[in-house]
Amino acid sequence: MAYSFGLKDHVAVVTGSTSGIGHALADALAAEGVDIVLNGLGDPAEIEKTRAAMEAAHGVKVRYHGADMTQPAQIADMVAFAHKQFGRLDILVNNAGVQHVEAIETFPVEKWDQIIAINLTSAFHATKAAIPIMKAQGRGRIVNIASAHGLVASPFKSAYVAAKHGIVGFTKTAALELATSGVTANAICPGYVKTPLVVAQIADQAKSRGMSEEDVMKNVILAAQPTKKFVEFSELAGLLLYMVSDAGASMNGAAVAVDGGWTAE
Ligand code: NAD
Repeated sequence: MAYSFGLKDHVAVVTGSTSGIGHALADALAAEGVDIVLNGLGDPAEIEKTRAAMEAAHGVKVRYHGADMTQPAQIADMVAFAHKQFGRLDILVNNAGVQHVEAIETFPVEKWDQIIAINLTSAFHATKAAIPIMKAQGRGRIVNIASAHGLVASPFKSAYVAAKHGIVGFTKTAALELATSGVTANAICPGYVKTPLVVAQIADQAKSRGMSEEDVMKNVILAAQPTKKFVEFSELAGLLLYMVSDAGASMNGAAVAVDGGWTAE
């Protein structure tokens, strides 16, 4: 039996959707008939190519807003832009994220501040702006892309682990505040997915741990993941589509691991 997620003509903002997981999730929503506001950094010509390709492939409207996730006013403007463009906002995916791998003793203060701003505080600003719109509609879905590092820690990732644990707590708080409004808030906690963010870490980890890049891939990155396989975009997209559909109405405040068993250990 074919299952419809019933998302046609819904509207989603996906932060950090010019690359990696965010791009894949935006594409999966577009394939279900959702109009999209893309966001993220990158070369303007490449971003325009991505935007136009998504529109052409799925026959939906795709807009781009270049809000910098360290800038509260720009984040609020992005949410207002989505509402103005499409007249509604059904789905907010707080996905933008960055990483820096270094011991606490030498961890640069500006890297700490940047990671907390992009990986945690931006979700507060976007959610704050989206809530009045979603409440007025009587329906909305907020999905925060946390991490297995929202549930457990690893060394050398202090800011990232703090931000991801923080976003799991923020998700639960939003879920409780919004529980009777028709708006849900949930977090997806992926294990390792092979995106530019992870590829960059391979070199960083090799330096921090004094190991070869091949050893880091085999014995550090996939060592944490019992399946010994990277998580696929489609596996995250399937959970997102469930969470944002009517079937997901009673899932609220959950932090769902999609990590090949990493956090089961
Ligand atoms: P990625 O580097 O491929 O993409 C990150 C996106 O965030 C890009 O679109 C980038 O432009 C955007 N971004 C970065 N700084 C920004 C800023 N200041 N303003 C606006 N946009 C900004 O990374 P990814 O691996 O796809 O990660 C996406 C999310 O998934 C992150 O929150 C990450 O922590 C999380 N995650 C990733 C993995 C993994 O293994 N890749 C695992 C768990 C969680």
